Amino acid sequence: MFTTLDLRSNRLQGTSPFAEAAFTMPESAVRNPNILVIGDRAAHLALLHTTLTAYQYAVWVETLDAPDLWSLFTFHQPDLILLDLNLPGVDGHAVCHALKSDESTRDIPVIFLSAQGSVLDKVRAFEAGGADYLSKPFDVEELVARINTQLNQQQQRQAIRTHYERERDHYATQSEIKDEVIRTAAHDLKNPLSRINLLLKMIEMHGDVNDGRGRGYLDSIQESAQNIRELIDTVLDIDRINQDADLDLSDVSINDLLYHAGQRYGVVAEAEGILLEWTLLPEDIVLQLDVRRIDQVLQNLLSNALKFTPAGGTIALFAEPTRHGGVIIHVQDSGIGIPPFDLPRIFEPFYRVRGGAHAQAEGTGFGLSIVKRIVEQHGGEVHAASREERGSCFSVTLPRLRPKSGDHTV
Ligand code: ADP
Repeated sequence: MFTTLDLRSNRLQGTSPFAEAAFTMPESAVRNPNILVIGDRAAHLALLHTTLTAYQYAVWVETLDAPDLWSLFTFHQPDLILLDLNLPGVDGHAVCHALKSDESTRDIPVIFLSAQGSVLDKVRAFEAGGADYLSKPFDVEELVARINTQLNQQQQRQAIRTHYERERDHYATQSEIKDEVIRTAAHDLKNPLSRINLLLKMIEMHGDVNDGRGRGYLDSIQESAQNIRELIDTVLDIDRINQDADLDLSDVSINDLLYHAGQRYGVVAEAEGILLEWTLLPEDIVLQLDVRRIDQVLQNLLSNALKFTPAGGTIALFAEPTRHGGVIIHVQDSGIGIPPFDLPRIFEPFYRVRGGAHAQAEGTGFGLSIVKRIVEQHGGEVHAASREERGSCFSVTLPRLRPKSGDHTV
C-alpha cells in the first residue's frame, strides 16, 4: 500500500512498506532543497509541510488569497514551487506565467497541484510554464518522486549553464589574450626590424663586411634577428600553452629537475658575477609532471632572478616537501625586488614593472603569465614575495595528484 496524501480530506491514508526507502534523497538534496508551497487552506498546507519535511526538504508554506508573489522572493529563493491551481480569487496559471516572465524566478520549477485534473487544465498548466502537474489526491511517493525529478533536472540544467558560462568566459579571455599578443608582438617586432634595415643600409654605404666596422654591423644584425626569434618563440609558446594541450606526464624526480637547472644556470650566474646556490631535497620526491613545461617554469624564474639581481648578489634554488606528498620549489634572489604596487599584477600577461631599474631590463612581460598557466595546468600554485632593494622569492607548489574536478591535495 502506498501512503496517500488526500488534500481534500487532510489525512494521510495508510503507510508505505517502502516509506524508509523513499526517504533516500536525490543527489540534489545534499543541501536540503527549499520547497515553497503556495496554497489556500492552512490545514492542507500544514499537512504538506509535515509530510515533505519528513523527506528532508526545507519546506516553506504560504497561504495566499491574492499572493503578493514578489515580496515572497525578496529574501528567499526556493529550489522548487508547489502551486495549488485553485487559489481563491487567483488564477494559478497566471501566477505561474508571472513567475516565468520574471528573470529572478524564471528558472524555478513549478509543479501544479490540482483537484480538477481535466486535460484542458493540464494543457493550460504546461502552457503557463509549469514543469509538472499532479491531480489530488496523490501518493506521497509520487509527489516526492516528481519533486526529485524536477530538482535533479534543475541541477543538471544549472551544471550545463555553469559549464557554458565558464567556456564563454574562457574563450573571451583567450581571444583577448590573442589580440593582445598580436598587438604587442607586432609592436615589439618593429624595433629590431627597423634596426636590421638601417644596418643593411649602413653596410651598403660602407661597402665592406670584412673589416671591423662591417663585422660590427653584421653582429648587430644577428642580435636583432635573435630578438625577433625570441619574440616569435614567446608568442608561439603562449599560443601553445593557451590551447590547453594535454600535459605529457611522466614520473619526474624533483632532485633531477633542481640538479639540471642548478647546473645550467650556475654557469650563467657565475659569468655575471652572481652566486647561484642550489640545494637538493634530503629525500627526493617523484611527481607526475610534464617535465618540459616544468623545466620552462624554472628557466623563466631563474632567468628573471638573474636579470633582476646585480653582480655580487645571490640566488637560491631549493625545495621543501608539502604535508600531502607534493613539493614547493623556491627561487629566491637578493635583487632589486618588486614595488608593492606592481607585485599583485606581475602574473598578468604583458605586465611589466615600468619604473627604476626594471625599465632597463629587456622583456616582454609574458614570462610569468606562462609560469602561472603551466603551474595551474599541473593543479599547483605560484606565489611571489618581494621587498624593494632586498630581493624576491617565487614559490611554486606542485601537488602530488592533479585535481580531476577542482579539488586537490597539495
Ligand atoms: P619579462 O619578460 O618582462 O621579464 P615577466 O612576466 O617574466 O616578464 O615578469 C614581469 C615583470 O615582473 C618583469 O618585467 C619584472 O619587472 C618583474 N619581475 C619578475 N621577476 C622578477 C624578479 N626576480 N625580481 C624583480 N622583478 C621581477
